[in-house]
Amino acid sequence: MSQHKFLLDESQLPKAWYNINADMPVPLTPVLHPGTLEPVTPDFLSVLFPMSLIMQEVSTDRYIEIPEPIREIYRLWRPTPLVRAIRLEQMLDTPAHIYFKNESVSPVGSHKPNTAVPQAWFNKEAGTKALTTETGAGQWGSALAMACNMFGMDLEVYQVKVSYHQKPYRRIIMEQFGAKVYASPSDRTQYGRALLAANPDNQGSLGIAISEAVEVAATSGGAKKYSLGSVLGHVLMHQTVIGQEALLQMELAGEYPDVVIGCAGGGSNFAGFAFPFVRENLKEGKRTRIIAAEPASCPTLTQGTYTFDYGDSAKMAPIVKMHTLGHGFMPPGIHAGGLRYHGMAPSISALVDHGDIEARAVGQLGTFEAGVMFARAEGIIPAPESSHAIRVAIDEALAAKRDGVKKVIAFNLSGHGHFDMTAYADYMAGKLQDYAYPAELVQTAMADLPQINA
Ligand SMILES: *Cc1c(COP(=O)(O)O)cnc(C)c1O
Repeated sequence: MSQHKFLLDESQLPKAWYNINADMPVPLTPVLHPGTLEPVTPDFLSVLFPMSLIMQEVSTDRYIEIPEPIREIYRLWRPTPLVRAIRLEQMLDTPAHIYFKNESVSPVGSHKPNTAVPQAWFNKEAGTKALTTETGAGQWGSALAMACNMFGMDLEVYQVKVSYHQKPYRRIIMEQFGAKVYASPSDRTQYGRALLAANPDNQGSLGIAISEAVEVAATSGGAKKYSLGSVLGHVLMHQTVIGQEALLQMELAGEYPDVVIGCAGGGSNFAGFAFPFVRENLKEGKRTRIIAAEPASCPTLTQGTYTFDYGDSAKMAPIVKMHTLGHGFMPPGIHAGGLRYHGMAPSISALVDHGDIEARAVGQLGTFEAGVMFARAEGIIPAPESSHAIRVAIDEALAAKRDGVKKVIAFNLSGHGHFDMTAYADYMAGKLQDYAYPAELVQTAMADLPQINA
């Protein structure tokens, strides 16, 4: 009989985060000031972030120790299980072995607390009294609300307006943890008021909500700092507890993955799962294929341009070199599956550009089909975001069947879909459709990029 679950005990929780900056095969590009277009100084960043997190952002140390108070909270749900999806293998009748790392078991149901807890803790240590942040559907907001509550800090969340109204449950979770939640664009910021004056019905976007949260922190005279749930180097690094545990668990399973897959919005769960395996490729001569899965309707890595762009819509956040659809990107209204950010983490972009990571775009219908298959086989309703990774894992397993080869596939289940029932209902009612973001729109957006002579 085959074993289903590979579990670590609490003593095996990683003691350090893995920092891929130490092993990058290409030099990192500088982060630029949105006004001067010159490399940012720690002073500029310190308006938004505590110095400890800025130092993590620029560090090239391979391992950064996880402070014990953070490990203590991680132990509420970590180490998370690695599961062999035997019933999914049987459903697909594939010779492939499929493993998934189950990050849906965290208190708020996704990988996001892995960085929310350290970000809140390092801020608390630096004397920050309150944080501001943005959230889309509310997964990041609820993770940070939980973390801030645990450390006795206030939190202001700018939630994309369409989600604020259509998806009240995560807002209620945030409020239950004591956070203040505002629909974005709001009348609380200059940028929000300007957008509402131009169009009172503006439904918001992640880029706009980031701008509002950044503006509130930057104009608070030091009282509030800003926290981001993805994209930044320190955020990706905090997530590497996932992949480090998975490496140990694959050893318990007596196998090593031929293919490692994660879904990518800003890139944090993908990097957290995959970077420790990327390190094995770069340093230990392993040959695992590493695949980032993204929606065809927000195809940052597969259709975007690798160039310098602003991190937010209002051009207040730093400029970084990344794959981008343009900072003015508005996701198509029919897209139900999350992963809507216009850019991608710079380290992931660089590794894709250099050929160390593959990217694949998947359509909405195939993604939801994969999510339903996974739920029926394994009993877990996946987040639609995670279903992008499941789709690619299933396609790889079907390719193994077609080719008659045994292949070991591992993907990250970034979260559960218990608050995504409207999207599942729309799928089952036949209301969703496939949509590929038009290449012309990417070209138009490129006209509004910062002009960098690099
Ligand atoms: C936020 C979220 C994502 C996308 O964010 P990344 O930074 O790309 O990981 C994916 N899955 C779930 C469940 C999420 O909550």
